[in-house]
Amino acid sequence: MIKSSGDIMYVEPNFKLKALFPTFPNDTRFDELWGLHNTGQNEDAVADADIDAPEAWDIATDSDVVVAVIDTGVDYTHPDLAGNMWVNEAELTGDPNVDDDVNGYMDDVYGYDFCTYNGHTRGPDPYDDSYIGHGTHCAGIIGAGVNNGLGVVGVCWNVKIMAIKLLDASYEGLTSDAIDCIDYAVENGAKVLSNSWGVGVYSQALEDAIEAADANGVIVVAAAGNYYGNNNDEYPVYPASYECDNIISVLATTHNDEIAGYSDYGPISVDIGAPGGSYDYEIEKYVGILSTVPGGGYDYLDGTSMAAPYVAGACALVWAVNPQLSHLEVIDYVLNGVDKLDYLNGKCVTGGRLNLLRAVKGKASFPNFTLTQENDDPDCVLPFNEALSNYHTYNIHWDANDTGDTNVVLVDYLPEETEYYGSEPNGTYNASENKVTWEIGNISSYS
Ligand code: CA
Ligand code: CA
Ligand code: CA
Repeated sequence: MIKSSGDIMYVEPNFKLKALFPTFPNDTRFDELWGLHNTGQNEDAVADADIDAPEAWDIATDSDVVVAVIDTGVDYTHPDLAGNMWVNEAELTGDPNVDDDVNGYMDDVYGYDFCTYNGHTRGPDPYDDSYIGHGTHCAGIIGAGVNNGLGVVGVCWNVKIMAIKLLDASYEGLTSDAIDCIDYAVENGAKVLSNSWGVGVYSQALEDAIEAADANGVIVVAAAGNYYGNNNDEYPVYPASYECDNIISVLATTHNDEIAGYSDYGPISVDIGAPGGSYDYEIEKYVGILSTVPGGGYDYLDGTSMAAPYVAGACALVWAVNPQLSHLEVIDYVLNGVDKLDYLNGKCVTGGRLNLLRAVKGKASFPNFTLTQENDDPDCVLPFNEALSNYHTYNIHWDANDTGDTNVVLVDYLPEETEYYGSEPNGTYNASENKVTWEIGNISSYS
């Protein structure tokens, strides 16, 4: 067995998994949610340009993680959201005009309205007063109620959405308010912050607030921005571009498997892609993301604003399945689980789109299998003393215990002295050739 040969530390296939029994909800408009499950339902679509949600839901559907949506507020009365709102029980059952839980905010039942922009007054009611319902839309992507026979579904079937109003009815706000939003969310138990807003100006105070969230083990998901293909590495968009370990910056992909034309990107500063929708010039139609809007309705929107909540929801689900993980480990699971895509290569750090199944399963997404080296295979000569930077590919036959399949895979050998080098196994699977290719550093030891 190669695994015990001392030359290969650990080798795992990283092919795209499909659960045997994908789980589909009964919600009336589920089939419009191509971001979760793209069957090619829209004209010009590319099937499977999605996050593999039904496959992941075979593993887990619910999260007890509190996800703060920092946006225009949330219609917490929406029938498809009401059951998944974070509720401050002390305030719900407490007295009006009394800070029942003594957290410094009176009557903050569902979150708080921190907006002071353009004369807007702060208060305990974070209801979404924006015309298109930007925050409510983001909330539905994370956690619209599932199997309730209503409308849409969220990435998480059950979750706790904290409504934090930063932006006014015209989708504008102030950095100073954003800091208070983040501080409140962190202090009141949110573990994931979904931020579909941005500004091109650096703020030390805002970065400090995000660093404080990091110190508290909180993930900050941020939309990369819609400045028509801006390279964030050159022209930063904040908060997405802060160099904080706890930030995941998200660009937008489309139903026909492209980067959205409006989406900003950044080989260094943007981390991952997720469905955001776009205008499709081929069919001269918008193919956006359907989600909840205020007043109990549903509508389509597109943008990196929609992509970020997919990732926020994924973080919440990963954490629920793997509660022992630190926030940075949850981020690793999400980033390491991507579907690598040629068109995202060089556009973001992972070069891939969110894959909920692999994110949730983490290392467990690699099936148990036995590697068997065929001694008569001339390609199986182990390379020693090769420079680490060299790229090797060799044929190895392996038999997957799970399936009984025998496949030829291309792998790299990791020299023995680099036992502790490397990131998660993260090879590229070529379905047509049934081969997996790793680069050096993508094979690592866990023992
Ligand atoms: Ca309170
Ligand atoms: Ca109260
Ligand atoms: Ca629903």
